[in-house]
Amino acid sequence: MRIREILRRKGDAVATVRPETTVRQLLAVLAEHNIGAAVVSPDGTSITGIVSERDVVRRLHEHGADLLDRPVAEIMTAEVRSCGPGDDVEDLRRTMTERRFRHVPVVEDARLVGIVSIGDVVKSAIDELESEREHLVDYIQRAP
Ligand code: AMP
Repeated sequence: MRIREILRRKGDAVATVRPETTVRQLLAVLAEHNIGAAVVSPDGTSITGIVSERDVVRRLHEHGADLLDRPVAEIMTAEVRSCGPGDDVEDLRRTMTERRFRHVPVVEDARLVGIVSIGDVVKSAIDELESEREHLVDYIQRAP
């Protein structure tokens, strides 16, 4: 299965925040959308970084509550691993497991066109298994 298939099902919405957004505002965005990470972008299409709840928790532990008024640019990961709509979901699952991140932005023609989470990848694997199972049951029941 390809990444574009996941996007077709879940849509292309991506929560983005500008680099100067404070960590406090980021937390409001994550809570409002019930998500674990936001892409850092000055314009909603180019990618400056990615910031997840894990970044906030680690830095809060190191720096204390003053962190809440600092810009997300200070805690984001600037080297972002992205994927394309034509990439294979299984390859991405392997990368996410090995590199231990749960969110990968989808980029086409240098523009942000979606985001895939480890939850989306697991759901697509379960859907595929379920569909295979249905085909097998159907095949067995049709057998003379
Ligand atoms: P996550 O598992 O997504 O909560 O992220 C764990 C760590 O990996 C955090 O430090 C994130 O900033 C970073 N991270 C998340 N997604 C990516 C990505 N696609 N590319 C690079 N780093 C990432």
